[in-house]
Amino acid sequence: NGGYTLLQDCLAGERTPNGLIKTLEGSKLKGMGGAGFPAGTKWRFVRKEPGPHLMTVNADEGEPGTFKDRFYLDRDPHRFLEGMLIAAWAVEATDVYIYLRDEYPGIYKLLKQEIFKLEATKLTTATRIHLRRGAGAYICGEESAMMESIEGKRGLPRHRPPYVSTAGLFGRPTLNHNVETLHWVRDVVEKGADWFASQGRNGGEGLRSYSISGRVREPGMKLAPSGITMNELLEEYCGGMAKGHKFKAYLPGGASGGILPASLADIPLDFGTLEEHGCFIGSAGIIVLSDKDNIRDAVLNLMSFLANESCGQCTPCRVGTEKAVKLLEAKKLNRPLMRELCATMADASICGLGQAAGNPVLSMMKHFNKDFA
Ligand code: SF4
Repeated sequence: NGGYTLLQDCLAGERTPNGLIKTLEGSKLKGMGGAGFPAGTKWRFVRKEPGPHLMTVNADEGEPGTFKDRFYLDRDPHRFLEGMLIAAWAVEATDVYIYLRDEYPGIYKLLKQEIFKLEATKLTTATRIHLRRGAGAYICGEESAMMESIEGKRGLPRHRPPYVSTAGLFGRPTLNHNVETLHWVRDVVEKGADWFASQGRNGGEGLRSYSISGRVREPGMKLAPSGITMNELLEEYCGGMAKGHKFKAYLPGGASGGILPASLADIPLDFGTLEEHGCFIGSAGIIVLSDKDNIRDAVLNLMSFLANESCGQCTPCRVGTEKAVKLLEAKKLNRPLMRELCATMADASICGLGQAAGNPVLSMMKHFNKDFA
């Protein structure tokens, strides 16, 4: 049904890498793993480095509340595989490593089988595909920790610079993408940059796959415009709140994306729009809470998760997240100490886990006084 036609055109020289990069840049397609870095620019950065180049695919979807990559891999794996091979062709990557979440055993089986079929064609002659299993570490969703893990080492995030586009996997210039970003490559190129860019709402550009869970009537993966608000998502895509629940709060971006009250559900959900409220959209794993939920319980749960998943490499995060759990468990919250702790974690941690770990607590202290007085 037209699958792999674009890849065949690329391999036959009917498309140029620069042409594709220009289209991607025009479409405003961003990295959907959470960082939101423009996809076309990533390709350009890797291309200009001396070869050989490598590519990694982050399919280690471990962010609490995020399941969009599973949705696409399950239902339409070849759109992703074609996007991946096109990207590898564009940056001249000899090898692609897919790092798959080990909690997706069905998808592992499916991908193995479909990659095997693909290798029987001439479509992978320039690119070797390696399918690797993750081992359940949340931190391996961080790109440099994932690369350490693929190299056979303990998954510890690296200091930057150098960035992975210069020295990534095995020290080679590496293009790293999330599954969803690659899922969109084919449609963006075939339907055009404007088609994708024009799908946003409230100032947003493009489409976004929101994983919605919690107290809504119809949870699930919702493909909606970038920049849509939580109220719009709730009413137009989720059938409103679940019976007997009143909308109280939402987590816009997984475990460390902060928590916003229902009174702030008219903010466009996009990269860069939530930061002024101490939150971020990340991989768009949205969890909706109701009047039946206690925010302090939720924050304690999130902080315990982060303390558990901290890789332990740096003190502010390793000790800070544990200390934050203890402060949250105390009868009365020591606010000044908690603020100081959150600032230290944000300023002095090596990677995003520690840097953003304080977001849910800070949200709670700002918006939900009643829940922890
Ligand atoms: Fe590891 Fe946390 Fe430091 Fe990141 S911030 S390197 S997860 S200890």
